[in-house]
Amino acid sequence: MRALVLSDIHGNLEALQAVLDAASGWDALWNLGDIVGYGASPNEVIDLIRPLSSLTVRGNHDRVCCGLTSPNGFNPVARAAALWTREELTAENTEWLRALEQGPLHPAQPGVTCAHGSPLNEDQYILSMRDAWAPLQQMTTSITFFGHTHLQGGFSQKEHDWHELRPAYASANEAGSWVFEIPAETRQLINPGSVGQPRDYDWRAAYAIYDTEAATITFHRVPYDVVRAQGRILMAGLPERLALRLREGR
Ligand code: ZN
Repeated sequence: MRALVLSDIHGNLEALQAVLDAASGWDALWNLGDIVGYGASPNEVIDLIRPLSSLTVRGNHDRVCCGLTSPNGFNPVARAAALWTREELTAENTEWLRALEQGPLHPAQPGVTCAHGSPLNEDQYILSMRDAWAPLQQMTTSITFFGHTHLQGGFSQKEHDWHELRPAYASANEAGSWVFEIPAETRQLINPGSVGQPRDYDWRAAYAIYDTEAATITFHRVPYDVVRAQGRILMAGLPERLALRLREGR
């Protein structure tokens, strides 16, 4: 079984389209949330991803953009984008977001957990080994996929052995992939990276494919029409910073 694992699309239609065009031969799609917020195509993104997804975890931006919680905890740029998205969303898409389940969730595939932030707290960022420690100890499955940080990679543990995973790519502008062979009897916290707003200094859309038979996770980056996505953000009157950061990948 091959699962396409996506996170943090953030209303970026061009990036999502590039990922779906590039990713082939998958049997299930696990979406780790933050489908909307920041980008200028929230409805188009929901309409595209909704029928393809086998599992969707609610993200913190999804929660705010559909009005379940207030944007007061957000920085001014994120708040402006969330309030714009609230106005923009159709009634149907708002209802769909409101009904999304909070993580952690378990897909049909055994041994896997899917979360937006930490599996212990959806709003918590797993940025370092220190952040990863408690979730790795308390995990009930050998693999947990998470998002929220917009940083592709993860954390791996076998007894007293700890590793941070950071995919390395041959090129910075073309499509690339990096295969991680999952060692036996390890625990993995894996972030597929952000489709629509990467923050690891790589502007390309990120995703991962989990192959259960091969016991591999392949990280991917794919170029997309970033100029078009930026144009939509500017045309929508969203903060300019949201357009600029897409090309910087941070
Ligand atoms: Zn996010």
